[in-house]
Amino acid sequence: MMKRRKFITGTLAGIAVAGLDFNGIAQAGERSKGGVRLPAVTIPLCEKSDVIVCGGGPAGFAAAVSAARNGAKVRLIELQGYLGGVWTAGLMTHFLDAENKGGLMRELLDIQKYAGVVQPRWFDVEITKLWLEKFCVDSGVELLYHTRVTDAIVDKGRLTTVITENCNGRQAWPASIFIDATGNGDLAARAGCGFDLGHPQTGQTQPASLNMLVSGISLKDLQDRKMIEMPGLTWAESKDNLLTEIRKGGADCSYAKPTFFSIRNDFFSLMSNHQYNLNSLDAIEITKATIAARAELHRQIDALRSLGGMWKDIRIVATADQIGIRESRRIHGLYTVSKEDMIRGARFDDAVCRTTFSVDIHALDPAKNKGVDPSFKVKPYDISLRSLIAKDVKGLMMAGRNISGDFFAHASYRVTGNAVAMGESAGKVAAKAALSGRLPQEVEWKNNF
Ligand SMILES: Cc1cc2nc3c(=O)[nH]c(=O)nc-3n(C[C@H](O)[C@H](O)[C@H](O)COP(=O)(O)OP(=O)(O)OC[C@H]3O[C@@H](n4cnc5c(N)ncnc54)[C@H](O)[C@@H]3O)c2cc1C
Repeated sequence: MMKRRKFITGTLAGIAVAGLDFNGIAQAGERSKGGVRLPAVTIPLCEKSDVIVCGGGPAGFAAAVSAARNGAKVRLIELQGYLGGVWTAGLMTHFLDAENKGGLMRELLDIQKYAGVVQPRWFDVEITKLWLEKFCVDSGVELLYHTRVTDAIVDKGRLTTVITENCNGRQAWPASIFIDATGNGDLAARAGCGFDLGHPQTGQTQPASLNMLVSGISLKDLQDRKMIEMPGLTWAESKDNLLTEIRKGGADCSYAKPTFFSIRNDFFSLMSNHQYNLNSLDAIEITKATIAARAELHRQIDALRSLGGMWKDIRIVATADQIGIRESRRIHGLYTVSKEDMIRGARFDDAVCRTTFSVDIHALDPAKNKGVDPSFKVKPYDISLRSLIAKDVKGLMMAGRNISGDFFAHASYRVTGNAVAMGESAGKVAAKAALSGRLPQEVEWKNNF
């Protein structure tokens, strides 16, 4: 478990700053020496919501829409200027563990069918941005973009208010119930919740990946050369063929299994980079990793283009706004999803989601560059509502990859079909709790799938 630290240091406009009582986010500042104490300030208090959702990725978008559809007045606060999280800011254009889900995930898959994509599970980023926004606007969710949740006010053990920073300066947003869907568990950490991070023995986390969109090549050529997933090929074959081709052009891949995801016949996303041992809670490390990754992506595409033929017109359309963080804080909840749950195929009366995805642990060690074999088999298992309710602070739920789980379970439930299902259930429970003046753990909930 990460230790909570009282005083955290960071740098602000080149000046070392200390004395901010941010819990659990110490690493970034450990390099700084000394600091200044900020004066107390009065922050504008904004209108109260029933439910505030922090983070508008797959889990947060679903939580907000679901809470609003269940009658709550909902505010969704998002760092980027659009929704989608890893789907859009991370250019990860591929739904996993989604086809077996109902509710909002099914609605999203149905929309993709009509979006002219090659397959609904490989989706178009811009169309997805538009639809996620439409879902929110149509259900009455009040969106607040370009805004970072930076702090939390807890009164007698209950979260009452989040503090944000944006072009308005700092603002305070009160609500009855909050949902942390920031992926990294920023809100819960600021509120003082305990959390775990990384492998139980080594603390290592899965690598991050900067993805890109590419064009100027054709799906038919990739299929003819067996460089994209297709019937008759093993999982690794198309990736190995692509790696050989990139190496032929004189570049290499930090991710040993580079993968094309086909969006349209001439438009793809490509995952070909790994940034190892990245501390997802340190902005300086994230910056360095992003710079290194972007340079690598350009080298790979230049290498392919240099081969001519089917590659002669390949170009990068965009690299991701946000390097894709696979793993960050796992916030302590009333229940912790575990490896044992996966082995026995756990069933819960208060389940919010049934997960069928295996344990996918990308290489932790760049020298091996090979995924970690969990050496056990996963049976479809349930995620209990209690894993979505914070243990240390009242009035706070989690949804998505920051829920309460162990290292191995996280490597399975983290994919987006599950994030959406968790978000949808969290939103429903949060709305019921807020509208009836109860806590989420006091709301009756029956597994409904
Ligand atoms: C490289 C990579 C490849 C993957 N491949 C797949 C795949 O093929 N298929 C699949 O289904 N899943 C895949 N996953 C897993 C999946 O994308 C994530 O686990 C999933 O997106 C988690 O959803 P989330 O909503 O919990 O978090 P995120 O998608 O991380 O969304 C969090 C949101 O919160 C916002 N936010 C963060 N901090 C703050 C803050 N302080 N204030 C306000 N907003 C904030 C972010 O901007 C973001 O929009 C992949 C992940 C990565 C990184």
